[in-house]
Amino acid sequence: MTIRCPACRAENTEAICRRCKADLSLLFSLEAERERVMENAKQAMRDGRYDDAYAAAWHAQEIRRGDDAIKLVALASAARGDFAEALRWHQSAHNRDVVRQAPG
Ligand SMILES: [Zn+2]
Repeated sequence: MTIRCPACRAENTEAICRRCKADLSLLFSLEAERERVMENAKQAMRDGRYDDAYAAAWHAQEIRRGDDAIKLVALASAARGDFAEALRWHQSAHNRDVVRQAPG
């Protein structure tokens, strides 16, 4: 896992920033919690527990926004039969991809 230091933007694999020595331990804890929550969401999807998957993916999205969580929220929404929400989240992830790929 790498964390970008919010102070100097250096990428770090350790809890103390290699460049500015900022303490990043809380950010690493939060990211580890997000990974655990995402694993729970994926396991819930595999088990067919779509309400649990939706809740866990949404929790991961609240910890830190990310395409992985957005896509899982969309997938869980579709599995629950909430196609309007699935489409909304799918479009959100798609729009992020379009912005990322836009030239200039
Ligand atoms: Zn730093």
